[in-house]
Amino acid sequence: FNENYEVKRQAEKFLHQKVIDYKAHPIVVEKSTAVYDAIVQLFLEDVGTLYAVDSRGHLAGVISRKDLLRASLGNKNLHELPVSVIMTRMPNIFTIRPDETLLEAAKKMIDNHIDSLPVVKEVEEEKNTYLLLGRITKTTITRAYLEIMER
Ligand code: ADP
Repeated sequence: FNENYEVKRQAEKFLHQKVIDYKAHPIVVEKSTAVYDAIVQLFLEDVGTLYAVDSRGHLAGVISRKDLLRASLGNKNLHELPVSVIMTRMPNIFTIRPDETLLEAAKKMIDNHIDSLPVVKEVEEEKNTYLLLGRITKTTITRAYLEIMER
């Protein structure tokens, strides 16, 4: 009984962890960046998703591995093609706030079939305008789970 209770308590603790305490650095490119350079960046930073920002530094798009693979098919010139053409754009981006829980982040990723969420702060009085604070990925969730279970 005690062991069961302890596992339940730990699982509960895991689910209530805040995004702010587990978020990773976002890897960001300007939305005018060429697809070729974005692919290089993806390898250099060893991430699965890049975030594109506009000239004001606001979140403009999400670029995943599949977006880059799709753009690479065919005979397009990847040095000329900007990521803004192939990325998933605002307002179609699912985001999460730093005060939300890892449970909410996990649900959003599973429900929407995506690997990561940008952690954002809304720019006051500007609808759908966000500053990037970090990223939450499926790896983040797995790491948080391990950390809590090992404690
Ligand atoms: P992969 O392409 O490696 O499978 P994802 O599953 O995360 O990576 O991406 C699948 C699609 O969803 C891509 O087109 C990507 O641009 C888009 N996507 C990824 N993250 C988000 C997000 N947070 N909000 C909206 N769309 C996203």
